[in-house]
Amino acid sequence: MSAETIEQRIQRVQALRLKRMAWGFANHGCTTLAVVGLYLGGFLPLAPAMVFLASSILIGTVLVLMLQFGINLRFRDPSMTMTQILWPIVPTLYVMFFVALPQGRIVFLLLGAGGLMFGTLALNRRQMLTIAWLYWLGYLGLVVLLTWRKPEYVYWPLEAVTLFAYGSVLSIVAYLGSFISNLRQELGIRNRDLKHANLELVELATRDPLTSLPNRRTVMEQFEKEVARSERQSAGPKALGISVLDIDHFKRINDTYGHQAGDEILRKVSQTIEAAIRKGDYIGRIGGEEFLIIFPETTPEMTVPAADRIRRAVEALRFEALPEGYRVTVSQGVALHQTGETLESTFKRADEALYQAKNGGRNQVLAA
Ligand code: GH3
Ligand code: MG
Ligand code: MG
Repeated sequence: MSAETIEQRIQRVQALRLKRMAWGFANHGCTTLAVVGLYLGGFLPLAPAMVFLASSILIGTVLVLMLQFGINLRFRDPSMTMTQILWPIVPTLYVMFFVALPQGRIVFLLLGAGGLMFGTLALNRRQMLTIAWLYWLGYLGLVVLLTWRKPEYVYWPLEAVTLFAYGSVLSIVAYLGSFISNLRQELGIRNRDLKHANLELVELATRDPLTSLPNRRTVMEQFEKEVARSERQSAGPKALGISVLDIDHFKRINDTYGHQAGDEILRKVSQTIEAAIRKGDYIGRIGGEEFLIIFPETTPEMTVPAADRIRRAVEALRFEALPEGYRVTVSQGVALHQTGETLESTFKRADEALYQAKNGGRNQVLAA
C-alpha cells in the first residue's frame, strides 16, 4: 500500500465534497421542481419563479467554481456545509412570498426539513440547532411579512399550527441528526484505531521481532507460493532454488560472549543476507539461528554462487561484541525444487546438505 501524498489527499477530499454538493443540488432541484409545479398549477406568477431559478443557478455555479479553484480550502470549514445548507433559504423564502395558498408554502417546509438532514454529514448539535432556528425564524418572518403586505394570503390559526409542527419536525431532525453526526465521528475514530491495531497485528504475526525478517510461517508460505508458481511454469532452464542457512557454533558464541552478543550477531547477519540477495529473492528466520533463503527463477549454475556470496559477506563482518579477528561463519545447504516434488522433500534435501556442510567443516555451501 503506497502512502497518499498531501496533493492526492486534497484531490480525493475535494472530489468527495463535489459529490456531496451534487446531493445538495439534487435536494434543491426538488425545491425547483416544486416551484415549477406551483407555477404550472397557477399558484405562482412566472417572474418570481424565474428569479428563483436564476438565483439558484447563479449561487450553485459560484459554489462549484469555489470547489474547482480550491477557494474553499482557505475557509475554516472547507466542506462549506453550513453555507450549502443555508443559502437555499434566501431564494426559497423569496419565492414562498408569492405563493397564494398556505398549502403551497408547506411544500417548501417539507423540503427544508429534508435539507437539514445533510447536516448529519458534518455538523454538531449546536450548528444543527442554529440552522433549525434560522429555518423556523425565516418562516415566521415570512408569515409576518405576508400578514402585513398580503393579508389575504394568510390564515393565522392554520399558520400557528404550521409553525408549531414545523418547529417540532426541525427540532427532531436537528437532535437525531446531530446524534447520527456524533456516531459517524466516533465510528471514524474507532475505524482508524482498528486499522492501526490491525496493521500492528499483521506485523506481529508475520515478522520476527528480533531481526524484523519474515518469520517461519511467513517464509514457508512464500516458499509454498513459489513452489506453486514454479510448478505452473513448464519445465525450462529456470528453477526454484532454496538455501537453508545456519550460523556456525552459535551456541559457543552465546556461551562465551553472552546472549546479547548473540542477538547483535543475529541482527547484523540478517541485514547482511537481506542486502546480499537479489530483488525478488526472499529470506525469513525459520528458527533460532537458522534462515531460509528462496531464490525464485534461478538456474542450477547460479544458486550455489549466490549462496556463497552470502557466506562470504557474513564472513567479512566485524562485531563490536566479539574480539578482533573473530569470524562469524555460516553453513548452507542448497536444493533446487524438482517438478512434482513436495515442498517438504525439497526442504529436507537442503537440510541434509546443510548437515553435510556442517560435517564437512562448516563455513561452506553444499548442494543437494
Ligand atoms: P552448529 O555450528 O552445528 O550449528 O552449532 P550451533 O552451536 O550453532 O548449533 P546449536 O543448534 O547447538 O545452537 C544454536 C544456539 O542458538 C542455541 C541457542 O541458545 C541459540 N539461540 C537461538 N535463538 C537465539 C536468539 O534469539 N538469540 C540468541 N542470542 N541466541 C539464540
Ligand atoms: Mg541450528
Ligand atoms: Mg548453528
